[in-house]
Amino acid sequence: MGDEALGGVYVHLPFCPYICPYCDFAKWPLRRSDAARYIAALHREIAESPSRPAENIFLGGGTPNAYEATKIVELVERLSERFPAVDEEREITIEINPDAVQPGDIEAYARAGINRLSIGVQSFREEEARALGRRHSNADVERCVRDARASGIRSLSVDLIFALPGQSEADWMESLDAAIALGVDHCSTYGLTIEPGTPFERLYARAPERFADEELEARLYEIAMDRLGAAGFEQYEISNFARSGHRSRHNGNYWTNGSYLGLGVGAASYLAGERSTATRLLTEYMEAIERGEPVPRERERLEGLARLGEAMMLALRTAQGVDASAFNQRYGIDPLVTYASTIAGFIEAGVLERSDEHLRLTRRGRLLANSVCGAFVTLE
Ligand code: SF4
Repeated sequence: MGDEALGGVYVHLPFCPYICPYCDFAKWPLRRSDAARYIAALHREIAESPSRPAENIFLGGGTPNAYEATKIVELVERLSERFPAVDEEREITIEINPDAVQPGDIEAYARAGINRLSIGVQSFREEEARALGRRHSNADVERCVRDARASGIRSLSVDLIFALPGQSEADWMESLDAAIALGVDHCSTYGLTIEPGTPFERLYARAPERFADEELEARLYEIAMDRLGAAGFEQYEISNFARSGHRSRHNGNYWTNGSYLGLGVGAASYLAGERSTATRLLTEYMEAIERGEPVPRERERLEGLARLGEAMMLALRTAQGVDASAFNQRYGIDPLVTYASTIAGFIEAGVLERSDEHLRLTRRGRLLANSVCGAFVTLE
């Protein structure tokens, strides 16, 4: 690996003070001994990674702020030494759970160079947040926002989930309006997915009528587009909305198929055309590092149509869509020719639109994004 800059570095901090019943991320209940052993392994993985400049750094989880702020500061310092900034715009994000934030934490993050917070709110209706297993109050979120502004954090994002059990259109509007009123810069909205093996899967099996059907989910999504759009947020990707100047560089790097290095258990990397994912077994990850061995990884090299299809899928998810000439320059094919019949069918169905060299989802296409974008991945 040379000195070419990485698009991003992702660091996985997998411990949570409690486990939410809908979650299928790589996460474990917080145990101090595991957490200390894990971060020691992570430091070793960082120290043994080839040093390269990186455009952005993202600390995700789990609940990264389950660690004390001093541990996060030390981690960011080591990461910044190993992966120096490419320019002054470098984005360093931490995901935080508002109820685990202690006084002074956010100020310490800001001093260490963290300039973006992604706050796991999920719902501003506290009974919905409880049903999701979350323990924070709206007052906790407001405190985070105040601390972040006072500390000079550049960008604040909240995550919200819609299509929750029993959630009405008015309920969802209430959450969106609360996010807007808080003055956050970025909002990610996701429809609830029922993940296999989670308590929510069992709840769904017992009482599917409590969950939103496809029609309601589509209406809720449209409400998000309209409400956030009217409040001045640009929908720059199907799930992501930003005020001017606050698009996430970390996200943007994924969608343009940029390179990234993942550190930690279950973390994915995309380097030199190869995608690999570290073991999702905590003990296996820590033991490999402690023995000085490579972390077990699943590897996959996307080639030919699979690589092109993935690039199409990722680009179509963004507001910019596919720029055919840029695509041709990078991948050596004209997508408007290679995918001519698929594209024509989607344009006729009103889910894609084309203007000159650009191909984008229509509003209706955004409602059906998974099947429209996914179609390019499965083409052979
Ligand atoms: S805090 Fe986040 S990562 Fe942890 S269990 Fe809840 S949803 Fe999953």
